[in-house]
Amino acid sequence: MNLDKLLRKNIKNLQPYSSARDEFSGEAMVFLDANENPFNEPYNRYPDPLQRKLKKKIALLKDVMSEQIFLGNGSDEPIDLLIRAFCEPGVDNVVSIDPTYGMYQVAAGINNVEVKKVSLTEEFKLDAQKLLNVVDEKTKLVFLCSPNNPTGNCLNKEAVLEVVKNFQGIVVLDEAYIDFAPGKSLLPLLNDFPNLVTLQTFSKAWGMAGIRLGMAFAATKIVSVLNKIKYPYNLNILTQQKALELIENRDKVEKWVKLLIAEREKMKKLLSDFPFIVKIFPSDANFILVKMHDARGIYEFLKEKGVIVRDRSKVHLCEDSLRITIGSSDENEQFLNALKELI
Ligand code: PMP
Repeated sequence: MNLDKLLRKNIKNLQPYSSARDEFSGEAMVFLDANENPFNEPYNRYPDPLQRKLKKKIALLKDVMSEQIFLGNGSDEPIDLLIRAFCEPGVDNVVSIDPTYGMYQVAAGINNVEVKKVSLTEEFKLDAQKLLNVVDEKTKLVFLCSPNNPTGNCLNKEAVLEVVKNFQGIVVLDEAYIDFAPGKSLLPLLNDFPNLVTLQTFSKAWGMAGIRLGMAFAATKIVSVLNKIKYPYNLNILTQQKALELIENRDKVEKWVKLLIAEREKMKKLLSDFPFIVKIFPSDANFILVKMHDARGIYEFLKEKGVIVRDRSKVHLCEDSLRITIGSSDENEQFLNALKELI
């Protein structure tokens, strides 16, 4: 992969904005360089544009270098930035598995970039050769998602690596749900593949969807490109503080993950007894995709009962399926009790 060739010319030539905190980031007696208000500490000050303290902690946690981390306003931010950096609007394209997370298509659409979709198999498996056959000379990015949303399964590691090894552009592997699939992350292979970008997030297992913190792990050259085009202060002080606090208390996260995995297995078992359930798909995530007779009708019934799930019936390969997030034990029971009224 030749990163310079892959990059849009205007991005390659771009002179990035240089903020006050970019030009001076050390300790000083008096800061009179950023037109900040001297009152209302600490929120009067701009946050660190490169989030150095937080990245150091995440680097230790994930066993990568700080320079291999990009932090964004949710993982939706690096998804958008990658498209903007590498895809010339109206010219280049991206390839994505289908079905998958909807934001790849939306971010591409906003940037006037075509998405070529490659269907997963009926069992939601990735056919690497089929995907590679769809790639053309204008394909800059491939989007893979593992565990995949909305199907819930992890993609086969060998198939993912076949794509990474044979595609000349960048493979974005979205691992938003990977904390629920211990041992299945491809992040340990980061140093082996300069064209692999792995996305993770604080929104799922970490229980912090509200602070908006997403992570992209990639070769330092790709991280530098993302840093060059992001908003100067893309992560606010509160987000950085909250993330640091949670990292200090991360045994909490491990407990949540264990509990949610146990709840998922319990839910699968109890759901299988309902007569209208056709199939419960295997899940490595904190949700399950369930095929049932009259999914739309059941969705509407649950809604009336105050229980909201996601109707995925109109999604490719997910006909008559609802996606059900695993909640607390109490929430799951309320969901099951509502369903019982249908028997
Ligand atoms: N990737 C996938 C596969 C997701 O399902 C989601 C959220 N539903 C995201 C990314 C977005 O995560 P974030 O909150 O970090 O933007």
